[in-house]
Amino acid sequence: MPSTETYRRRLLQEREALLAEVRKKIQGLSAAERVSEDEEAQRLHEDFVHLRLSLLDAERLRLVNEALDRIEVGDYGICMNCEQPIPAKRLEAVPWTRYCVRCQEELDSNPQSDGEEFLQAWRNLALP
Ligand SMILES: [Zn+2]
Repeated sequence: MPSTETYRRRLLQEREALLAEVRKKIQGLSAAERVSEDEEAQRLHEDFVHLRLSLLDAERLRLVNEALDRIEVGDYGICMNCEQPIPAKRLEAVPWTRYCVRCQEELDSNPQSDGEEFLQAWRNLALP
């Protein structure tokens, strides 16, 4: 079974990659540029797509940061719902996961506040 240090390193790598990705996408937003109306519509659509992708990255980033916090306090690898250890196989696949597979499936089949989660992720997105 890999040590917590292994997961920590992977999470830090993931965080770097996500930050780079989000910055790139935000910079890709075309607000500052003057373009024709036809192009404008196309750009707006692209912005929208960019924004949605950025939000997904932001949400992932939040989970990665949370996982790193849990490593700090020694809670890492424990399901936040049933408080059972999360199998190493799952942690290796998704090191930022909060839940074991069973709980995740339960939560996925019962989505409550997806929009709210997105908004929260967006607010937490601390960019320079
Ligand atoms: Zn669980």
